Amino acid sequence: MKSDTLGIIGGGQLGMFMCIAAKKIGAKTIVFSTEKNFSAKSFCDRYIQGSFDDKIKLNEFINSADVFTIETENISKTLLRKVEKSKKLYPSSKIVEIAQNRLLEKKFLNNINQIQTTNFLEINSFSELKKAVSKFEYNCILKTQEMGYDGKGQFIISKTNLQEFKNLNLSNFILEEKVDFISEISVIVISNKDKTVVYPPVENIHKNSILRETIYPAKIDSEIKNKSIKIARNIANALELNGILAVEMFLTKDNKILINELAPRPHNSGHWTMDSCRFSQFDNLISLITKGKIYSPEPSKSCKMVNIIGHDYSNINRIKKSFKCYDYYKKEIRPSRKMGHYMDFG
Ligand code: AMP
Repeated sequence: MKSDTLGIIGGGQLGMFMCIAAKKIGAKTIVFSTEKNFSAKSFCDRYIQGSFDDKIKLNEFINSADVFTIETENISKTLLRKVEKSKKLYPSSKIVEIAQNRLLEKKFLNNINQIQTTNFLEINSFSELKKAVSKFEYNCILKTQEMGYDGKGQFIISKTNLQEFKNLNLSNFILEEKVDFISEISVIVISNKDKTVVYPPVENIHKNSILRETIYPAKIDSEIKNKSIKIARNIANALELNGILAVEMFLTKDNKILINELAPRPHNSGHWTMDSCRFSQFDNLISLITKGKIYSPEPSKSCKMVNIIGHDYSNINRIKKSFKCYDYYKKEIRPSRKMGHYMDFG
């Protein structure tokens, strides 16, 4: 199998790193971006900028590439299915549709033998919310089923603010029990029908629901390490994965692993692989899609990846003097926006 042009839906930093990885192995890229200024703009071979509702531009995009992938799971199902009608999409729309909806995702995961998510209840009205919060004794987070990321679409409910939710349209939410975790870890798995490779677990530190730091290797014992890898493999198998999948997990005090969420695309917690592995998450994904080959990651040195978020970006020149630093070339600084990251090998 060999495909010459890769179509990437979305042009943020993940798309940018995909374009850079594609160039290394001589694969051409075309990016579809809904934004005028986007990170991948000067790294792709071609781009189409416009709305996903623009049928002419979308047809041009679909006709311009042989194989397709995504850099965010928050894409309309209609678009994904349209791409898949005539071309191969990595991963399949079935996988993206599961991962883009927290309720579908949790139901799917809990049906896999020995896989457990956080406790949750489906919420479609204020009376359901009232019952559910008392069941979880107010130790819970209300989340939209779709379009939530980096803490967006999440609300902490307390006895004092519960009434504020009375007049909201509460259809398509879930209420999730808050987990008293000792750490958050993630495992990235890449798979096609012939082969699966897994990146070792890393530890993730979040602030205000946004990833701040990823540490490789995760400080966990070998039993937990092996268990987390097994879980990620089992999920990939159950999904019949043809692409990449990040599995975010909570590690609890009693050594249980609960799945938080899935991302069927390269993941922020895998950026360290660009500097500490022979084959990064981007190298492997692009190689899988365009050449049908995946390689063992061969991780080497331990490291910490630190995100540069919002106005921390004003320090980028100072950071560059001490660390290997990646700029996402975003034109506008927004408070919770990921603007770049740097690697600390200290
Ligand atoms: P999410 O977008 O659901 O991955 O949430 C972002 C971050 O919020 C997670 O990585 C956790 O740090 C925190 N978080 C989300 N859900 C829970 C939960 N049920 N219990 C504890 N922390 C949570």
